[in-house]
Amino acid sequence: MVTEYVLKIHNRCDLACDHCYVYEHADQSWRRKPRAIGGATVRWAARRIAEHAAAHGLGEIRVVLHGGEPLLLGAAGLREVLAVLRSRVDPVCRLDLRLHTNGVLLDETLCALFDEYAVRVGVSLDGDRAANDRHRRFADGRSSHPHVRRALELLRRPEYRHLYAGLLCTVDPANDPIAVYEALLAESPPSLDLLLPHATWDHPPPRPDGGTPYADWLGRVHARWTSDGRPVAIRLFDSMLSAASGGPSLGESVGLDPVNLLVIETDGGWEQADSLKTAFDGAPETGLNVRTHAVDAVAALPGPAARRGGLAALCETCRSCEVVRVCGGGLYAHRYRTGSGFSNPSVYCPDLKALAGLVVPAAKAAPTPDAGSTGTAAHTLSPAAFDSLARGPGDPAAVAALAQAGLSLTRALVARVASGLPDGAGELEQAAREGLALLSRVDLERPAAVAEVLAHPCTAVWASRCLRPPRAACATLDLAHLAGIAASAALHAGMEAELPLPVRDGSLHLPALGVLRLGRQAGRTIRVSVSSRGLYAAGRRVTGQDPRWLPVRSARFGDRTVLVDDLDAFRGRSGWRPAGRLTGSRWEGWRTCLDGAGKRLEQDAPAYARALGAGLRAVVPLRPGPPRGHRAGGLRHPLGAVGLPPPGSGDLEVALLREFQIAKLDALTTLHGLVEVTPQAPGRILREAYARLAQAELWRVTPGADARDRFGRLSARIHEAIDVLTASGSLTPHGVRFVAGMRATVGAWAGD
Ligand code: SF4
Ligand code: SF4
Repeated sequence: MVTEYVLKIHNRCDLACDHCYVYEHADQSWRRKPRAIGGATVRWAARRIAEHAAAHGLGEIRVVLHGGEPLLLGAAGLREVLAVLRSRVDPVCRLDLRLHTNGVLLDETLCALFDEYAVRVGVSLDGDRAANDRHRRFADGRSSHPHVRRALELLRRPEYRHLYAGLLCTVDPANDPIAVYEALLAESPPSLDLLLPHATWDHPPPRPDGGTPYADWLGRVHARWTSDGRPVAIRLFDSMLSAASGGPSLGESVGLDPVNLLVIETDGGWEQADSLKTAFDGAPETGLNVRTHAVDAVAALPGPAARRGGLAALCETCRSCEVVRVCGGGLYAHRYRTGSGFSNPSVYCPDLKALAGLVVPAAKAAPTPDAGSTGTAAHTLSPAAFDSLARGPGDPAAVAALAQAGLSLTRALVARVASGLPDGAGELEQAAREGLALLSRVDLERPAAVAEVLAHPCTAVWASRCLRPPRAACATLDLAHLAGIAASAALHAGMEAELPLPVRDGSLHLPALGVLRLGRQAGRTIRVSVSSRGLYAAGRRVTGQDPRWLPVRSARFGDRTVLVDDLDAFRGRSGWRPAGRLTGSRWEGWRTCLDGAGKRLEQDAPAYARALGAGLRAVVPLRPGPPRGHRAGGLRHPLGAVGLPPPGSGDLEVALLREFQIAKLDALTTLHGLVEVTPQAPGRILREAYARLAQAELWRVTPGADARDRFGRLSARIHEAIDVLTASGSLTPHGVRFVAGMRATVGAWAGD
């Protein structure tokens, strides 16, 4: 399945960067293509993208408008492209629209247009003026630096800030890494991409003094970034850390995840990743066009298919490399050598090996608060991360670490479930065993796909339910859900498999993907097959248009999306009263309110919004009425999901903040005990006070007498709770430190 498209809308550029892979590298096809995309090509492209999303039931896809320089299309041309994409794709699935620009032409008119069509903008900047001027100049030699900075100033304005996607910086060891890092950070980007300049074995990157200059350069940035407490997401480092712990590799530069991306050129030609332009003239071309070929036909070609081959598609050297899971052989284009094609390690191999060694052990060796830890050995928090959580929101890296700890816990729970599968000959027992065999196979070949499904919060709830003693008769149906988990993982991985799935309430459940309604007469199991082409049940392909198929949908939440899971069979097992499938105006109400809540949080409580962005995967709509509350002890609800009351029954963003605070605290206590287990009262007081910390922050910045009043009451209660906890004698050493962090936050409000 293809989930990301790069749509080339203008093929020329107003800059003449000497490191540009479009004009200065091996591929010169830009000379043969139209300068600008035509209306008919845009309509064909949108149609192909939409039909593919519908056929595969995709919840979300991304389209990045690119060039050359896409802003050369002008406001009217851009509007036409955006209107076509929105009108064709929005009705089918969530469309994450982005644009990548050099920034030179960005102005208020364009920002307003991007706001209207919800387009997020990434900008290229190589660092401070000296670093940027080294390569990124106009054809007459003038600097582009002041133009880019003016564009970034525009994107930082409160009215456009939500459009700012981040910065892309091409690494040059001749630049001072710290000066570059500081210059990039000064632009307050939401994220940074540090890119190795495109090179191949035929045209290797410059290494004037030998050694590993790129790893050395990136290593210095990494050291500074770590000591700064990771103030911004840097995709290369985050990718390596994520891949090392079995998570997704967050991009195509490193890691073993399949690359599900295609490019559409201005002439409608389907192409592979742009970076291949560095290999040889015509390297990205497929010979197919949007007018004649659907996405599935392109994705099935050997070139794009090779990008989804994972470990098996790498050369022998990479397959036996000790850091292959982190490095993944580097960017595909960087492996090219005349004669052996792409079956080589990356031309950056020594740098990637050195960098993987630097980034991954550095993460593992991060110092931890040591006294009294009850944590999972493989997951610890640095004191800085721990303290950032204690102060309220927690920085995104701390929240991501909590999420990783949760994933490890889920893996352990699933392994325990798997170790106790019954060996009876019944259909459900058979489904559970086949599910386990498939899950193990996917985990071996595509661990990221398994991690994706296990990270879905309902998986942990399912596993803990299966382990609750005593195992009742109905538990066999629960155990057979392992087959649904395995099928979802195989679909994520695009791997072929066939197995029986259990029928629950007349439906097949594929966690995080959807439910196939078959009716009460369907029997106990149904045999399905899965592959990169999708799901087949009872001999029929399940498409997005199939009325039996209910997909798990995603909704916009400020500048990102969250799953809205109103289907999972195990979404309500932790004290929640989940609502049923949302339809019509109820679904529209949720969509609108979630988006509004996300935007308000980004505006009024940005630190909490960033924390939510790092940890929240799913929202579970609840029925009206009071929740049954959080049980003390046992498995708490996993970090990635919050249960929310229906819109209209209170402030959604306040409920979101509250629930996510509690989820973070629960996740933290799996690593570090904060209060003695008995008596239970201090634990409840701490949880309530921590939830109020976030709620108070929101009221603090909300204008009006009512908000002031609420803020005053909440902060007084937090003060009281802190005093009670401090006097209780129930706090562990970590608890003392944690409560001190909360006190510091409340203390800082003193003048408000
Ligand atoms: S701005 Fe981008 S497309 Fe234009 S010359 Fe520079 S690198 Fe190439
Ligand atoms: S470090 Fe080198 S050998 Fe190892 S996976 Fe990366 S490119 Fe391949």
